[in-house]
Amino acid sequence: MNRVWIGLGSNLDDPAGQVRAGLTALAGLPDSRPGPVSDLFRSAPVGVTDQPDFCNAVAGLDTDLEPLALLEALQAIEQAAGRRRTRRWGPRTLDLDMLVYGDRRIDLPTLTVPHPRLAERAFVLVPLVSVAPDLQIPGQGAAATLAAGLGDQGVRPWAAAAS
Ligand code: ATP
Ligand code: MG
Ligand code: MG
Repeated sequence: MNRVWIGLGSNLDDPAGQVRAGLTALAGLPDSRPGPVSDLFRSAPVGVTDQPDFCNAVAGLDTDLEPLALLEALQAIEQAAGRRRTRRWGPRTLDLDMLVYGDRRIDLPTLTVPHPRLAERAFVLVPLVSVAPDLQIPGQGAAATLAAGLGDQGVRPWAAAAS
């Protein structure tokens, strides 16, 4: 099996509930076993800032699904959560990004792994390092080193403010 890390994010329609439902859906994927799951974190939107805060988490998955089959499965879960693609990086009910797939580096029209913006995103690296402190990101070094270079960008426990 391949150890995959998936980043989850939501900022619409009960974000924490959306992320928890996404985690449940991941755990039900075929030919796969759920791995470690981070706590839920809160992050301010990056880029498009006139939208609600995000709830983020990271989940490990041990899977025999090939990367493109897994991408399809992730997109089906997003669709089931009612995701509508409106503007790029705009608000969404559920986003599931493939952060890392084993030690593979993938550069396809529809799939880039490791995720190309992982190294600049505390909302990915903070939860990721919390569950995978020794993880190496293929081609980019230790996740913990990347995270330390970035700071926390205001990423904090979900429950610290209101939930
Ligand atoms: P970002 O990728 O910056 O986090 P986003 O998650 O909002 O943005 P989406 O609208 O979810 O972007 O996805 C756009 C496209 O990205 C998808 O259709 C998918 O084909 C492609 N994609 C490329 N690499 C990945 C990856 N590692 N994980 C998920 N989708 C990916
Ligand atoms: Mg994303
Ligand atoms: Mg995405």
